[in-house]
Amino acid sequence: MVTLPEQLAPIAREKQIENIFFKKHLRNFSSKQVDEITHQLYHTYSKQIDCTACGNCCKQLEPGLMEEESGKFAELLNLPLAEFITDFTATDGTSRYLKTKPCIFLNADCTCKIYTQRPQACAGYPHLDSKDIKYKKSIWDNYTLCPIVFNVLEELKKELGFTYGK
Ligand code: SF4
Ligand code: SF4
Repeated sequence: MVTLPEQLAPIAREKQIENIFFKKHLRNFSSKQVDEITHQLYHTYSKQIDCTACGNCCKQLEPGLMEEESGKFAELLNLPLAEFITDFTATDGTSRYLKTKPCIFLNADCTCKIYTQRPQACAGYPHLDSKDIKYKKSIWDNYTLCPIVFNVLEELKKELGFTYGK
């Protein structure tokens, strides 16, 4: 099992072509079938992998913010809202997100300073319990970043009888 981010990147890169074939293989299964197995695997691996030994998502991603979340986080940092928005967020024109990398709320031990109040986008990450997984491009973006996603998708290949180069 791959559990550390530094183990993940080279292995994930090697599997680029294999994954193209696996995405084709997924067409043989209904969205419901894929979701059911993925949700089960997520349950298993999220218990086995220690996020505080990783922190990759908090170091590399820019979590989206709901409209009301900027005000809440400005208050937590004891900053005027305008200052928080300018210094710590950016927008792509439609959504606002936390722009600092690593995240301003990440502790040195990879825990979150505001864990119980973290953005919804963080609480839902890596989104493996969502519906219609097989159609979600973001799952594959996370495959190279998140050991939980990597292990779940590798195990999903086995569960769905996928073989490559054997
Ligand atoms: S708010 Fe917390 S959980 Fe979200 S990216 Fe920052 S440190 Fe990570
Ligand atoms: S959710 Fe994934 S990327 Fe984020 S800390 Fe946990 S294992 Fe690492």
